[in-house]
Amino acid sequence: MRAAALTEYGRPLELIDLPDPTPPDGGVVIRVLACGICRSDFHVWNGDWRWRMKVTFPHVLGHECVGEVAATGKGTTGWKTGDRVVVPFHLDCGRCPHCAKGNSNICDNYTAIGFQVPGAFAEYVPVPAADRNLMRLDSSVDPAVAAGLGCRLMTAWHALHDQVTVGPDDRVAIFGGGGLGLSTLVVARAAGARTLVVDPNPAALELARRNGADIALTPQQSQPEAIIAAMGGAPTITVDAAGHRDAAGAGLAAVAKGGAHLQLGLSGAGEEGKFPLPIDRIVKAEIRVLGSVGCPAPSYRRLLDAMAAGTLDLSGLAPVRGGLDRITSVLEGMNSGRAVGLTVAMP
Ligand SMILES: [Zn+2]
Ligand SMILES: [Zn+2]
Repeated sequence: MRAAALTEYGRPLELIDLPDPTPPDGGVVIRVLACGICRSDFHVWNGDWRWRMKVTFPHVLGHECVGEVAATGKGTTGWKTGDRVVVPFHLDCGRCPHCAKGNSNICDNYTAIGFQVPGAFAEYVPVPAADRNLMRLDSSVDPAVAAGLGCRLMTAWHALHDQVTVGPDDRVAIFGGGGLGLSTLVVARAAGARTLVVDPNPAALELARRNGADIALTPQQSQPEAIIAAMGGAPTITVDAAGHRDAAGAGLAAVAKGGAHLQLGLSGAGEEGKFPLPIDRIVKAEIRVLGSVGCPAPSYRRLLDAMAAGTLDLSGLAPVRGGLDRITSVLEGMNSGRAVGLTVAMP
């Protein structure tokens, strides 16, 4: 099979031929229809995470995968060739206490597709334990749009519907208008919340406006007083969708009394993931600071139901499609803020 492989940090992915994967016992092989390109791919690609995550070159990235079951392994039940599926990026061990409670997203034996195991910037990808690690997707959904379900959309959904309960009375301020920020905007809008997006990139702000953001500001325009004035009150929910101390600090400075700050983006190398917490503000304003990762299966089904019912409209995401040879330029664009929106590789 053809795959776009990381062979050296920060260098263009190489298009190489690899042996076709065989389905593991209880698992499947997916024929990839589309795979989104995420900022976490960027962090692995440029070596940000080399100290905390070992990869063996050549490594195949890609964790926002939509495809069709191409082969089933011994003992695999419930799936057949041709079934349309989406693969939540975190793979569930099914044995640990967190999996037992249904919280597969914080599994003790956490592995993630495209990180610890081969990913979907390839024609085929194996997925273990198919009874737990696949979600059925209606074949009418555009695979390019659905690709974001593997990471960004499910992350935004779990954060806003499980960690907090977003609703029409909320004001949601999102710091970082990349893929995760845009997905958070779409989920917040669908719940009827008033929304604000902060990003330095004018193209990201334009895309946010097109997706219904009530307000879109640059970081220079988004002092807490300015946010409160623009939103008609302090945001009840703030979201760091960038994984950067500036975004986290801005969220904690702006969030309303009794509100919640959600930490969704993962940070890169160095100091960008660390900053001093404003302890007294957190105490006196009773601010809840919540981390959130991925999306456990029961909540994921509610996300798919909302899509099917038309209450979560993803049409504004307007994915940009490209081949495996397009991925490197998107990753390079994340360095300079040129990459916005959802770009998917379609092998
Ligand atoms: Zn991701
Ligand atoms: Zn587990």
